[in-house]
Amino acid sequence: LSEKLDKALHVLKGHGSITEVNVAETLKEVRRALLDADVNFKIAKDFTVRVKEKALGQNVLTTLQPGQLMVKIVKDELTELMGGDAEGLNLSGNPSVILMSGLQGSGKTTFSGKLANYLKTKKTKKPLLVACDVYRPAAVDQLHVVGEQIGVEVYSDKGNTDPVAIAQAGIAHAKANGFNVVIIDTAGRLAVDEVMMTEISNIHKAIQPQETLFVVDSMTGQDAVNTAKAFNDVLNFDGVILTKLDGDTRGGAAITIKSVVNKPIKFIGTGEKMEAIDVFYPSRMADRILGMGDVVSLVERAQEQYDEVEARKLQKKIAKNQFGFDDFLKQIQQIKKMGNMKDLIGMIPGAGKMMKDVDIDDDAFKGIEAIIYSMTPAERSNPSLINASRKKRIGKGSGTSVQEVNQLLKQFNQMSKMMKMMQGGKGKAMMQAMKG
Ligand code: GDP
Ligand code: MG
Repeated sequence: LSEKLDKALHVLKGHGSITEVNVAETLKEVRRALLDADVNFKIAKDFTVRVKEKALGQNVLTTLQPGQLMVKIVKDELTELMGGDAEGLNLSGNPSVILMSGLQGSGKTTFSGKLANYLKTKKTKKPLLVACDVYRPAAVDQLHVVGEQIGVEVYSDKGNTDPVAIAQAGIAHAKANGFNVVIIDTAGRLAVDEVMMTEISNIHKAIQPQETLFVVDSMTGQDAVNTAKAFNDVLNFDGVILTKLDGDTRGGAAITIKSVVNKPIKFIGTGEKMEAIDVFYPSRMADRILGMGDVVSLVERAQEQYDEVEARKLQKKIAKNQFGFDDFLKQIQQIKKMGNMKDLIGMIPGAGKMMKDVDIDDDAFKGIEAIIYSMTPAERSNPSLINASRKKRIGKGSGTSVQEVNQLLKQFNQMSKMMKMMQGGKGKAMMQAMKG
C-alpha cells in the first residue's frame, strides 16, 4: 500500500503548484491504493471525496506547497478513519477480566502473553493467564510456555473440557491469590462457525469481562473485516487487536475495521516475540501507511527498554575511555531485547522499503557475539591488547577468520571514536535532531 500511495503523493510533492485535474488524478491513485490494500470500496470512495472537499476548501490549489498540504489532509483523514485518538484498556475491575476472541491462528495466545508481559511492567498490575482452549492439549502447553517465558502464572485444568467452568475457576483463583488482571485465552476455529460462536458467547455471558478483545491477523485483508463483523454481532466486543503487522504488512484491515464495526483498534502485534506489542496510534499508523515511517514508536520502544542506570554507567565509561567489548556485548543484548531487527528497521522512514529484501535477523549478531565470547576478560576491557597471535586464537575459538576478527576490531574502534564525539557538544545536537 505505502509504495502505491507514495507514488501517488509523489506527484504532488514534486510540484510547486497543481491543478484541479492534478488533484483528481492523485485522488484516483489514492483510491486505487486503498482498494489494493483491501479497503472496502465504499470507504475508499468516501475517503477520497472527503479529502477532495477538504483540499479544495483549504485552497490547496493556491498555496505555495500544495503537495505537503495534500499529504497532511490525506494523513489527517486516514487518522480519523482509523479512530482518531489512541484508546486504552478498561482495567477498572478487581480483578479486571480480559477475554480474547478470534479465529485460530489469529494470534490470541501470543497476544495474551504479550499483553500480560506489557501489563506486568506497569508495576501495579499482576496478571494471570487462563487457558480455555480445551480442544487441543498443545494449546494449553503453548500458553504455559509463554507464561514461563514472561514469568506470569498460567491457570489451566487439563482434564476439564468446559471452557466456561475453567474461565470461572481461573477468575476465582485470581481473586484468592491477589491477581488483579485475568487474561482469558480461548479456542478459535479456522473459519467462523456456530460452535465457536456459541462457546465464546457462553464464556462472555458467564464471566462478563471488562474488556472483550477481538484478535485479527492483519494479513487476512478483507476477510478480516467479515470475521470482525461476525464476532462483533455476537460479542459486541470492546476493541480490536491487529496482529502480524510486521515490517511492511498492508494496513488495509486497520482502515476498514474501525469503520465497519465502529470499535477502536487498541493494540498491534508486530512480531513473534513477547516484546513485539505496541499501543495502536491511528496517526502513527497513518504515517506508516503513507510511508513516513514511525520514528515516534521506535524512539519510545528504545527508551522503554533502555535501562537508565545502565545508560549512565555507559556514559561514564565512554567519557573515561573505558568502553570495552563487555559493554558492547551488553548493547547487542539490549538491541535484541527491543525485538526483531527487521521490525525495528521497518520503523525507520524509508528504510522499510530499502531493507525489504535483506534478511536481517538476530543471527546477524551471532558471529560478533562468538568473537567477543572467545576473548579473555582482559582483552574485552582492553582491546588494544589484541595482537596478531591473539587474533588467531580468537578466530579459532569463535569459528571465524582473522579477517572477521580484524573487521570487528576496526568497527569497534570506529564506534568508540564516534561515541566519544557524541559525548561532546555534538551529541546533544544530534539527539535533538533525531527527536525532530
Ligand atoms: P491463536 O491460535 O489465535 O492462539 O494464535 P497463536 O498465538 O498461536 O499464533 C499463531 C501464529 O502466529 C504463531 O506462529 C505466532 O508465533 C504467530 N504470531 C502471532 N502474533 C504475531 C505477530 O504479531 N507477528 C508475527 N510475525 N507472527 C505472529
Ligand atoms: Mg491459541
